[in-house]
Amino acid sequence: MKIACVGGGPAGLYFSILMKGVAPSHDVTVYERNPAGSTYGWGVTYSESLLRSLHATDPESARAILDSSVRWDRWDYFRGPRTMSDPEGGEGFGIGRQRLLDLLAERARGLGVRIAYEREIADERELADADLVVAGDGAGSRMRERHAVHFGTEVGVGRNSYVWLGSARAFDSFVFSFEETEHGWIWCYGYPYSPDRSTCVVECAPETWKGLGFDRAREADTLVRLEKIFAGMLDGHPLLGQGDAQGSARWLNFRTVSNRTWRRGNLVLAGDAAHTTHYSIGAGTTLALRDAALLAAALLQGPPLPVALARYERQARSAVRSAQRSARYSSQWYENLPRYTDLPLPQMVLLSKLRGYRLVHHLPPKLCYFTHQAAANTVGRIPRAMRRKAARPIS
Ligand SMILES: Cc1cc2nc3c(=O)[nH]c(=O)nc-3n(C[C@H](O)[C@H](O)[C@H](O)COP(=O)(O)OP(=O)(O)OC[C@H]3O[C@@H](n4cnc5c(N)ncnc54)[C@H](O)[C@@H]3O)c2cc1C
Repeated sequence: MKIACVGGGPAGLYFSILMKGVAPSHDVTVYERNPAGSTYGWGVTYSESLLRSLHATDPESARAILDSSVRWDRWDYFRGPRTMSDPEGGEGFGIGRQRLLDLLAERARGLGVRIAYEREIADERELADADLVVAGDGAGSRMRERHAVHFGTEVGVGRNSYVWLGSARAFDSFVFSFEETEHGWIWCYGYPYSPDRSTCVVECAPETWKGLGFDRAREADTLVRLEKIFAGMLDGHPLLGQGDAQGSARWLNFRTVSNRTWRRGNLVLAGDAAHTTHYSIGAGTTLALRDAALLAAALLQGPPLPVALARYERQARSAVRSAQRSARYSSQWYENLPRYTDLPLPQMVLLSKLRGYRLVHHLPPKLCYFTHQAAANTVGRIPRAMRRKAARPIS
């Protein structure tokens, strides 16, 4: 089978690894528009469950990813002069996005995948001799946009502005900082992804963004201003930017992509091209890798191709559905942040951890907090099966 993957992100690269690893006779090429070693963003988080699934599908990639990752098991919070540490925040892992792509590319090449860098594919007709074209070309997928009506693409644009930054401070935990300015609240979360670097994602409402002058400021000035605002969290360490050619910071509004169908003939969508989930749940890379695994498994079960692609879409879509729901609630929680900022910090923190659940958005915050605490105090008396049911996200 001749397979073309458009996009050398996690989805395209991991899919190529799994196909070539199991069936070396396949002819697999990944086309990536950027040069090798250049990508956007800083580090990404993932959980232990991703490591477990990677181990099941390609143990060599799983080991390499774990070896290059940083682990934490505590969450820390800053809000003005108040701080709080949550030792039960949970375990997490971070890895540099570039490092992840380098590892996947190395593994893919080792298995015989061709990676054509600096090769942008504008139209799948350029790949007419391929039996299968995988569109792993990210949230702004050109492959998908050309057939947006067929795919039934919907793109929702978030209200808040965000910027994806790095920091020269290597945190030893997952850190949140919520700060009030004369123009409203602005917040940041950060986590380490290497021994000397962390990711910091900063977000605020559009009024705050304009009020603080970020719509006009050059990146260098933006970073200085943000370093002052988040001084407690950064402890004197600089923020690092990835500004554009004009020297402006890359503020964006998050785009939630969904599609009615993920396939058209021999063209199939995977990863962000098929779906995006708000960055505040840190799941996009995990879902892209999961799509890759499900697509490879569906194809390896055998032809005909349309049946395999339908199988893939069915399985991957159901995995994505609940993540997109949680992501929607999570982004709403942040868009309504002032609803929670009058609460004592521990109460606000608890509600932030429940933000993927619908009830948090409908109950008055204090009532929600005390209801949760009352339930938590009696949970020991509830039979285990009922507890599992109660723990399911509310849809
Ligand atoms: C601020 C922020 C923070 C995030 N944090 C996390 C996190 O902590 N954890 C997590 O799991 N996820 C996170 N994500 C999401 C994650 O980055 C994406 O979900 C993930 O990268 C999707 O992988 P992908 O392979 O589908 O697409 P991408 O990683 O976007 O890769 C697509 C590739 O295709 C290439 N390409 C595009 N068009 C073409 C073309 N026409 N021809 C050839 N090549 C092309 C691009 O250059 C790119 O290399 C975050 C996202 C944002 C915005």
